[in-house]
Amino acid sequence: MRAAIYIRVSTDDQVRHGYSLSDQREACSKRAKDLGAATIMEFADEGISGAILNRPGLTSLREAVREGRVDVIVVRDPDRLSRKLSHQLLLTEEFEKAGVKLEFIDFEWHNTSDGRLFYAIRGAIAEYEKEKIRERTIRGKDQKAMLGGIPINFCAYGFEYNPENGQVTINEKEAAVVKDIFRWFVIEDIGYNGIAKRLNTTGIPTKKGRKWHKQVIAQIIRNPVYKGKWKYKNYFINVPAIVSEQLWEEAQQRAKDAKRLWSGKKRLNYLLTGIIMCGDCGNSMCGAFVTWWGRRIKRYTCYRGTEGVTNIGCKPLKYVMAEPIDRAVWEQVCEWIKDPHKLAESVQNSIDNTEILAELKRIDKHLQDCEKGREAILDALASGLLELDHTVKNRLTSIKNRKQQLEKRKEELEAALNHRLNISDTLNNALEIAQSYVDRLDSLSFEEKKAIIRQLVSQVIVVGRNSPPGAKRKTRLKITIVTRFPEIAIQKTPKHGKGKEDMV
Ligand SMILES: [Zn+2]
Repeated sequence: MRAAIYIRVSTDDQVRHGYSLSDQREACSKRAKDLGAATIMEFADEGISGAILNRPGLTSLREAVREGRVDVIVVRDPDRLSRKLSHQLLLTEEFEKAGVKLEFIDFEWHNTSDGRLFYAIRGAIAEYEKEKIRERTIRGKDQKAMLGGIPINFCAYGFEYNPENGQVTINEKEAAVVKDIFRWFVIEDIGYNGIAKRLNTTGIPTKKGRKWHKQVIAQIIRNPVYKGKWKYKNYFINVPAIVSEQLWEEAQQRAKDAKRLWSGKKRLNYLLTGIIMCGDCGNSMCGAFVTWWGRRIKRYTCYRGTEGVTNIGCKPLKYVMAEPIDRAVWEQVCEWIKDPHKLAESVQNSIDNTEILAELKRIDKHLQDCEKGREAILDALASGLLELDHTVKNRLTSIKNRKQQLEKRKEELEAALNHRLNISDTLNNALEIAQSYVDRLDSLSFEEKKAIIRQLVSQVIVVGRNSPPGAKRKTRLKITIVTRFPEIAIQKTPKHGKGKEDMV
């Protein structure tokens, strides 16, 4: 293989960056050798700007290519060939058409935006040429191989993309839905969720045939592609518009307003978010409040109102008063902190070691039996009552095997016991941390309470519902507090306080 290397430094490179030709020469030659070049020709331009195409070194290189004296050209990056994109395209095209392979050292075309743009344009030009050829002759099939390298994967609801010719067209059926979405959002003010709901009730599926989710609606509203500007990395590519620029801008304003309104609301704090779940349907529960005579009453619910979720929660909808549950959990945690031995004790109790200890005892007994049996045989042998024949040998081996098995099991059990002791160590550590708060349990901030609870509690499971007001038969709401080290469950029935909202 015959390689040519092309190296160039401008005056600017030399003065400002101290670059020299020799660095490039070394790197390019090395790459050419790595590629298996038998001969290496060198073409160089020193102190000449890359904006000019008419450079002595470059001109000789192009000549060599035309005369078929080169198989591969090694260059540091496309900028060496030219500072101008149009010239880069011209030269790379020229070289490749001559069947010369072009090798760049510092050019990661798939990892940099420059690289992608370069090849995207190259691809587009190739595409354009291919189209022209196709118009002229039906033998255009060969050209297809030239294609590829367009780093574009266009996929948006409301549009069709043809990867064959890179054309983006409007899908009229979907575009009508997009128009509705924008109109509803701006004019009717039903919000992302309301729109998703409406589309799902009318049975219109998403592009992937799924249900609409508010997140998908939000993405559509915010996407400039619908006003005809497809954002690709850092630049916009024109596509056919589905909604007017004006409607799109109005929607953005509306989205901004909605966001401000939402964040301006006083957010209520829920002590158990993230660890509370509904034991009836398995959903995690989240905070939801109702306003009752001007007072906000915090509740937890397992209901998932957003469109497109798999488990919408209990039926009928389940809301439980947050305050009694928060209080019951916090009281339990305080109890543990004030009296850590109690938790340690219940942990110890929950860890039932009796089975292990009983088995260990049995094993010791068996081991003693083995030993006795062995001694008896040895005694008999010593006194001449037995002869060391085949049977006796077998008997001794079997005792030895049994003893080994018993000892192995004993080790396992002892390790298990040890592990359990370590668990209570971990628990004690957590308790020790929690203990540092013991003097100011009543003055802790909400966030501190939240953190302490999570130190000790892994989950709070709520089963049942609150009694409806005035109900004769009280229903029972039960909560189970699952501790972290290890997971032991403590059942509680939260009682209603007298409206003392100390958790808010
Ligand atoms: Zn539920």
